[in-house]
Amino acid sequence: MSILNKIKKAKLVGRGGACFSTAIKWGMVKDVPGKRKFVVCNASEGEPGVKKDGYILENYPGRVIGGIKLAIDFLGAEKAYFYINHDYHKKYGNKLENAIGQLPIEFFIKPVGSGYIGGEESSLLNAIEGCRVEPRLRPPFPTTAGLFGCPTLINNVETFYNVSLVNDGEYKNKRFYTIGGESFKPGVYEFSDDETIEKILKMTKNYPDFPFFVQVGGDASGEVLNSKQLKNPASGAGLITVHNISKHQPKKLIKYWLEFFQKESCGQCTPCREGIYRLNEIINSEKIDWQLFFDVLNNLSETALCGLGMALPLPIKSYMKNVFTKLSDEKIKVENFDRKTICECFK
Ligand code: SF4
Repeated sequence: MSILNKIKKAKLVGRGGACFSTAIKWGMVKDVPGKRKFVVCNASEGEPGVKKDGYILENYPGRVIGGIKLAIDFLGAEKAYFYINHDYHKKYGNKLENAIGQLPIEFFIKPVGSGYIGGEESSLLNAIEGCRVEPRLRPPFPTTAGLFGCPTLINNVETFYNVSLVNDGEYKNKRFYTIGGESFKPGVYEFSDDETIEKILKMTKNYPDFPFFVQVGGDASGEVLNSKQLKNPASGAGLITVHNISKHQPKKLIKYWLEFFQKESCGQCTPCREGIYRLNEIINSEKIDWQLFFDVLNNLSETALCGLGMALPLPIKSYMKNVFTKLSDEKIKVENFDRKTICECFK
């Protein structure tokens, strides 16, 4: 059976966060005519809190390189780039080099200071080409016009690791989860890919004995859920961050998201560059205009050019809807946080 059919049969999805079908992506790059094709392994792991790619590189470098080799052979690709953050290259570079041997796989170290956006798939193509590190307008997608205008397959570390398992008949529908925040036993764990958040917390002895909520998928862009909403699998990059309700400070948390996204915005498009600046301005004002705040936030998800700007509304709105509006009044002692207006927005 061809590797594509094996991947199809395994129903593999990408593990960078978007969960796009791996077979469809591989098939798209294969079907585009072109003499030159490239493969890129994205090992930038820039989503705060997520550590699973580092864990895989440390423990299974041969598997990851094996998956990349399968992609090169399947596509007849000229070469592969191993796009890796500086820290991981320092820690795991030697192991990976040993696994690479004579294969046409070249390291490309993520530019220092390129931050969160340096891991976005079209930004990393710009980085490799020596251009300004910012997302490209799509379409065309990298599958048809990626690196140097050629069809390019970009997959995450865990995806290549899984491809290697699939090829050897050892893939068991599992994925890696990072557990962090105020958990008892933070770390990286492996469970079935449809395991519920609640079960994962229980099986790893991380289920809190205090009132809590979680952020799932990533500390920046992940969805916030209360403790009654844990019956679904963990989405995105598989992070589960535990927050203690009594200790958390609503305004501090919202400011963390806003400041993170403002700092990481590449500044290319107006809704993100100006919008997040204005959101920060509103939240720091003496009297917060919540209607304006949510208008700007909603506008961002509809008009931002790339996933970074589109991602900010999810943590803030899900936190407001699933946690803040359900807190008892005595727990909400936040100056300027008008409970009535916020609840109105989320009823
Ligand atoms: S949404 Fe933000 S990060 Fe993305 S292109 Fe626009 S300014 Fe850059």
